[in-house]
This record gives sequence, C-alpha cells and structure tokens, in this order.
Amino acid sequence: MSQTRQYSLNLPGVEREELPVDVLLVGAGPANLACAIHLQRLLQAKGISDKTVLVLEKAEEVGNHTLSGAVMNPRGMAELFPDWRERGCPVEGEVGPDAMWWLSKSKALRFEGALCPPQLKNHGNFIVSMNQVVGWMKAQAETLGVQVYPGFAAAEILFGDGDRVLGVQTRDTGIDKHGAKKDTFQPGMNVMAAVTVFGEGPRGHLAKHLVRRLKLDEGRNPQTYGTGIKEVWEVAPEIGAQWQGRVVHTGGYPLGTDGYGGSWIYGLKDNRLSLGFVVGLDHHDAKLDPHALFVQWKQHPEIQKLLAGGKVLRYGAKTVPEGGYFAMPRMHGDGFVLVGDTAGFLNASTLKGVHLAIKSGLLAAEAIAEAIVAGDTSNAKLARYTELFEASWAREELWKVRNWRQAFDQGFLSGMVDAGVQMVTGGRGLVQRRKGHADHSTTRPVAESRMTKPAFDGERSMDKLTDVYHSGTVHEEDQPAHLLVLDTTICVDRCTREFGNPCQHFCPAAVYEWPTEGAPKGPTVNFSNCVHCKTCDIADPYENIEWVVPEGGGGPKYQGM
Ligand code: SF4
Repeated sequence: MSQTRQYSLNLPGVEREELPVDVLLVGAGPANLACAIHLQRLLQAKGISDKTVLVLEKAEEVGNHTLSGAVMNPRGMAELFPDWRERGCPVEGEVGPDAMWWLSKSKALRFEGALCPPQLKNHGNFIVSMNQVVGWMKAQAETLGVQVYPGFAAAEILFGDGDRVLGVQTRDTGIDKHGAKKDTFQPGMNVMAAVTVFGEGPRGHLAKHLVRRLKLDEGRNPQTYGTGIKEVWEVAPEIGAQWQGRVVHTGGYPLGTDGYGGSWIYGLKDNRLSLGFVVGLDHHDAKLDPHALFVQWKQHPEIQKLLAGGKVLRYGAKTVPEGGYFAMPRMHGDGFVLVGDTAGFLNASTLKGVHLAIKSGLLAAEAIAEAIVAGDTSNAKLARYTELFEASWAREELWKVRNWRQAFDQGFLSGMVDAGVQMVTGGRGLVQRRKGHADHSTTRPVAESRMTKPAFDGERSMDKLTDVYHSGTVHEEDQPAHLLVLDTTICVDRCTREFGNPCQHFCPAAVYEWPTEGAPKGPTVNFSNCVHCKTCDIADPYENIEWVVPEGGGGPKYQGM
C-alpha cells in the first residue's frame, strides 16, 4: 500500500508567517553542510552577497541526530577543505592496523594484513565521531554567513503549480496529545526557497513523499536498508591502549550465512571503543531484532574480552541505505535536489558514505550556484547536478560496486561468489544489472521464525530501555505520537496471525509493544523512546507505519557518537 499522501501533524487552517530565502537545506548532516559551505563560497566568488542560505535541523543541537561508525575516507572532506586537519576538524585518529574476523559461536578466524579483504582495508582513513564533525562543519558554515537553525523540524513540503517544490512548512509546536492547541501553541512557518535541498539522512520523511509523488524511483531498484546499532564503551586502560586506532570488522556469528550484515570495532582515544552491528532489513525472519543480534554479538567470547571491566557510555541506532547506484532515485526536480544518504550515496561494500555524502553536497552546490545565477531553478537546470555526478569520482566508485548489495539477495554464500566475480569484472559480477526488492516484501510467516532473544545482564548486555537511556532521547510527552499506525485493523486481524507483529521486535528502542492481555486494538506506541532510526517506516510488512516528524528539538542526543 505505497502511500502518496503527505502525512503531517501540523494543524490545518492556521495563519502562518512566511520566511523567504534563496536556498533552503533540510537537515544539517555532512552532505547539506558541505553543500551550504561550498555554495556560499561559489556565490561569494561571483561577487554575490545578497542570497540567503538557510539550514534547518530538527535536533536541538546540530549533531545530536547524527550517527555513524565512523571511519571516514578523507577524500570528500579534503575537497571541501584541503586544509581540513589544520582547520581543526575533530578526528579520533588515523586508522592503524585493520582486520576482518570471521566469527563462529565461540572462536574468531582472523584475516589481518594482506589477508584482510580489500573492501575492509582502511589505511589512510580516519576514525571520527560524526556528530562532532558536523558540529565543526556547522561552525565553518556560519563563518561564511550560512544561517543554521537547529530545533526546527520540517513537517511538510510546500508545492506550487504542478510539482514545483516551493519550500517547507516547519512543525507546529504546542499541540497536546489529543491534537488540541496548548497555551504554548506556535504555528510552523512557511519557509519559501528557490531551491530546497533534502539532506534528511536515510529514508527522509519528506524525501520519501517526494520520491513517491514524482516517481523519482521509476526504473530504479527499490532502496534497501540495514539497521545499525551502536554503543560507545569505556574499556579497561590496557584494552584501550592496545586498541586505539585499530579497525576490525566481523562477519559470521550471530547471523551466520542467514541474512546480510556484520559488525565493527573501532579503537577511539581515551580508552573508548566504538562497537556496532548492522543487519539488512530484507532479512526474512519476522522476529528480526537488530538490537538482539547486537547483544548476541557482544556476548561472543572475543568481544566479551574487550568489555571486561568496562562500561557503556552511549547508545544509538540508525538505518543505512545500502542499495547502491541502481537504487539511487532521480536527484533533481523543479526547485529541489536530493543529497547524501537521502539520495543513496553510500558504498555498501566498504560501509562508507561520509566522503560520498560530502561529494554530493559539493556537486549539488555547483549546480545550484549556476541555477541561482541564471535565475532558473527548473528541473532542466538542476539536472546539471546529475550530470556532474555522472562525471565524478563518486559515480566511478559507486559504479564499481553497482551490484554489490543485490548480489546477496539470494543468500550470503552466493553473494560472496558474485562479489568475487565483481572484483574481476569492474563491478558487474555474474549478472549485468541485478534487480532489488523492497525490504518489507521479504518477511516470511512468523511460524518460520528462528530468531532467539539474548539474556540481559545489565552490565555488558543491556536491554532496549537501558540502552535508550544511554541515547539521551527526550521528547515532549504531551504531543501527538509521531509514529502513525495507519490501519490498526491490519495489526489485529492480519499481522498478529501472519507475521506476529514484527514492530515489537525490529524497533531498537522498544517503542512498540503488543498488549498481552485482553483484546488488543493495536500496538502500544511509546513514541517518546524513538531514536529516529526509521526502521519501522521501512520494515513494516504492510507499510502500515508512517514516521512523521515530532516537535523540533525532540529525539536522541548523540554526543561523542
Ligand atoms: Fe526507529 Fe521507528 Fe523505533 Fe523510532 S519507532 S526508534 S524510528 S523503529
């Protein structure tokens, strides 16, 4: 039931202020901030100083909703700022030894040095905390005169004649949980722009609507996603000293060859480790639980050794667009462009997207600058962005792995064979162009489920609610739930029987609970736990959950993540 309706919690018939700007960027992630910085420089180089470039960010502070592993390939950042290190871009350090471990239930087979698969070699890359990096990028943007408004959530796209994007309407604040105005009610503004840049991250709630309304994905593969779970740990000093700068990726346990996914261990400064696990949301098991897999992975003896004597500091979860080149939607239209994760700029084979996101922002900025100077921000003019992309190293990199993720659709082992063939056929593999599928379409009946739940000890194996506490997530409680279950009769009459209500499993923040007593009318939705990962919007087997934006400022507070 692909929805083309635009959902929003804003009240209809309300008088609103209008804020005209020249270029509006929705989301303050690396793609949009790179775009804003480069655009401002390009306009200033042409002697144009009267244009307003505005970035809206739903988080209370820029970076609070930014989550990544992260090992950054510096190529994009070095194009944005050749002197990025001298300028003080925060980094944890340059990558030292790297390795790939294949885990059985109790052992690790180590592939180190020359034996580490080429996709997972990281020499020359940098371990970073992306929420710190975007905080730094925001300061660079402001120095150039870019306006950045955190705490302002974009709730709806404003359309003009035909399908021209005119800007966005920000979220109303001060609406109570029943949908009535509170004394504190503040209507959202209509922010009008010649060009709107959607850099909302993966599965942007506005971009999703735009893609469907304008059929931007026609002829492309459906985007496919993974959900990544991350914790930052403070570990014993001897472990910290041994691991600083080390980068290890693991495969195998607990997924085995059942589904696509794996984990990372990155050694940070000050005796901290970044630990994470990503699993593809096209996994067929109706009880797929990315958080449970992460906990089971942490319970592996080799990981337990690292955590002994340590404590968890932070937690987060986010989806990752893994579909690659053939899953990228058309990235431009009348008055808008799509950048970064929103447009699918991610190399799934190396698990890296930051450099590609920054590059997409740089390319979009060049196209937008030309359009602004020409006074023509039509679809035809902004198509320049796609032309620039097709001629860029970003396209070259993504083309070389164009069939990577889809090759694993038939199973891990056949995927590994195809991946080997891709390496000697310039990315083609066994098939010229692989097709994809929407993640939610692969869920099998709950009777076939083999997923198990881990035991929690509260120290090294935390349950979801304890982990949510470590994400710093806060929402205003007296507001309407921002997770819309569109038709609860489907939950009761079909989903319980067919799939066993997967929402209670796949959400990494325990937002959905299925009542165990009485005659349930639908799931209980604890929306204030939501870490904005978007898993539910993607993985619900009936496309019955719609993520809309809550009041600005609500959500996780990722710091040092
Ligand atoms: Fe993620 Fe949805 Fe759960 Fe929020 S409710 S944490 S978006 S799965």
